[in-house]
Amino acid sequence: MTNLLWLQGGACSGNTMSFLNAEEPSVCDLVTDFGINVLWHPSLGMELGDNLQKMLRTLVSGKLSLDVFVFEGTVIRAPDGTGEWNRFAGRPMKDWVQELAQVANYTVAIGDCASWGGIPATAPNPTESVGLQFLKRDHGGFLGKNYRSKADLPVINVPGCPAHPDWITQIIVAIATGRGAELSLDDLQRPKTFFSSFTQTGCTRNMHFAYKVSATEFGQRKGCLFYDLGCRGPMTHSPCNRILWNRQSSKTRAGMPCLGCTEPEFPFFDLAPGTVFKTQTLMGIPNALPAGIDRKGYIKLMATAKATAPRWAEDDIFVV
Ligand code: SF4
Repeated sequence: MTNLLWLQGGACSGNTMSFLNAEEPSVCDLVTDFGINVLWHPSLGMELGDNLQKMLRTLVSGKLSLDVFVFEGTVIRAPDGTGEWNRFAGRPMKDWVQELAQVANYTVAIGDCASWGGIPATAPNPTESVGLQFLKRDHGGFLGKNYRSKADLPVINVPGCPAHPDWITQIIVAIATGRGAELSLDDLQRPKTFFSSFTQTGCTRNMHFAYKVSATEFGQRKGCLFYDLGCRGPMTHSPCNRILWNRQSSKTRAGMPCLGCTEPEFPFFDLAPGTVFKTQTLMGIPNALPAGIDRKGYIKLMATAKATAPRWAEDDIFVV
């Protein structure tokens, strides 16, 4: 039996919704097939008020083992570092986070807000929000850069706005089946199994990217969304085109540019209209280039791409 506690800080519940939609494995599978004992979750937990607080105290005391501590949302420190009083928790949530993280075997941040602070931590950040172990790209966050859970791992970051359901449940399964210590994390503490490749990996528009054929409107079935519509697929680490959403599709497959939501800097341009879905350029060259390509290389690549583009690249190849 693996005891799992899921608490929520400054959150929109998007990751909870994502979790409840999981299919491979589903939340039911976690309980019946993998022995996950959900001690409490904002949408599944029965205990409230005194009963919830009593259970949290039992965990902090060590009388009940906390195998997986999942946190969704930011750690709110306002006003003036005191933290927001939480009516479910009976005290500021940040105080529970601090104590529970010390007794957890594994601490998992689900979603952008818990990983890096996300949208709430964007300047001017009136809630003084931080992620568990990062504030944007700065290492440290609420628990500090030296934090390690009892299994001797830092916070496992599963970012995304929201994180894909399967990323969440598969990490929980890895821990429940004794493979948590083997998880290989990147320098932002994201599991490499999900976050080594780019959103562009597996995108159906890759041929159009290669031949510099651009989509100019949302939903267009031909063309790449990078050149005009600000797609961040070539520089965003996520498996969105490898592990499809609803087993069907992804943003870029549907004609919506990748927003880069798994990266610490999200939301880019504060999601302001006129900037976020428009490729920002300097003398015709995008400011944000595909990962690993410099400006000179990009100019050469694009000159060749345009010159060699076959005629079919301008056709709608998804005609039914
Ligand atoms: S830039 Fe975006 S739309 Fe174009 S191929 Fe890459 S991920 Fe797909």
